[in-house]
Amino acid sequence: MKICVLPGDGIGPEITAEALRVLQALALPCELNEALLGGCAVDATGDPYPPETQRLAQEADAVLLGAVGGPQWDGLPRAQRPEQGLLAIRKQLGLFANLRPAILYSELANASTLKSEVVAGLDILIVRELTGDIYFGQPRGIELRDVDGRQERFAFNTMHYCESEIRRILRVAFEAARRRSGRLCSVDKMNVLETTQLWREVAIETAADYPDVELSHMLVDNAAMQLVRNPKQFDVIVTGNMFGDILSDQAAMLTGSIGMLPSASLDADGKGLYEPCHGSAPDIAGQGVANPLATILSVAMMLRYTFAQQDAALRIERAVKSVLAKGYRTADIYEPGMQQLGTRAMGDAVLAALQVD
Ligand code: NAD
Repeated sequence: MKICVLPGDGIGPEITAEALRVLQALALPCELNEALLGGCAVDATGDPYPPETQRLAQEADAVLLGAVGGPQWDGLPRAQRPEQGLLAIRKQLGLFANLRPAILYSELANASTLKSEVVAGLDILIVRELTGDIYFGQPRGIELRDVDGRQERFAFNTMHYCESEIRRILRVAFEAARRRSGRLCSVDKMNVLETTQLWREVAIETAADYPDVELSHMLVDNAAMQLVRNPKQFDVIVTGNMFGDILSDQAAMLTGSIGMLPSASLDADGKGLYEPCHGSAPDIAGQGVANPLATILSVAMMLRYTFAQQDAALRIERAVKSVLAKGYRTADIYEPGMQQLGTRAMGDAVLAALQVD
């Protein structure tokens, strides 16, 4: 198990350290190689995704990432921004499938801003296409153009998908739905956009290979409403890059605890980049209070999806559930009556729960 570790910026190093302690406690044979990505890489080399990091990431079976970015790099030209490192590694490793579970642990049902009966027991998976769509489409730019006889700044992006890109992400989603409840909702905007009209056609064609999965379709604006009105109607949702970006953040917030949510980004062969859904939280960086559970749960996803170590993944997930049941909380998920812990102490609590499992 060759793992490239990219702690990144802000709280990234703090939460990654706890996730690695949990991984190492499982005593699986693994080789860890740490490298720079994001703002720390810009500071050290001028490049958010330097060649040494590229080499280690390409050689690894899986990448574990903390988070990148922070206000100190906001003024840099776009190509040197930390987030470009993230886009570049996803593109280079061909990580086209982003899996984001949104699970609301019963112990945290009050953390959601929605009524607890609407969200209690929520367990949905959003599968987002990650390397195509309007985020990568060419041409793009901002330039001066003649508009109705006068010069104005004019900005444009291009949305496109080819059918093979759509089919491969749909296959990932159908496979995931098959392993869960057998229900898949494909989200598009086929009434307005040709790219998503093709998306729907390919979804219907692909469904023929998965007769055991029930496919439904929903327009993205309705999906945004339904996620708030009755989120438990969904099991697996599959959608394109831009809609998935928005809907997966919305689904994350249904749980009320961004510090709890892991994610996986996979290539065609199961190699993956695993990271928490949240960012680098510069407002609390260096204080030892960040919630490490999303990163610890990202290690569980890594063991499940890249290394097929289902038992080890379940052990980590059980340990996390058990620390929540014992009433341990970091500040972001704290409620009166619970015991508040810092980052390191939460890592200790998960390690202790693993020992008794
Ligand atoms: P953020 O997720 O970093 O923080 C949003 C809020 O959630 C903050 O109040 C933060 O303190 C809190 N929070 C986040 N993670 C937490 C944790 N583990 N424990 C406790 N509290 C936590 O989002 P933001 O503030 O919009 O972005 C900050 C920086 O992170 C920006 O530079 C942004 O570009 C970057 N970012 C990076 C990634 C990534 O690396 N994948 C994702 C999103 C944002």
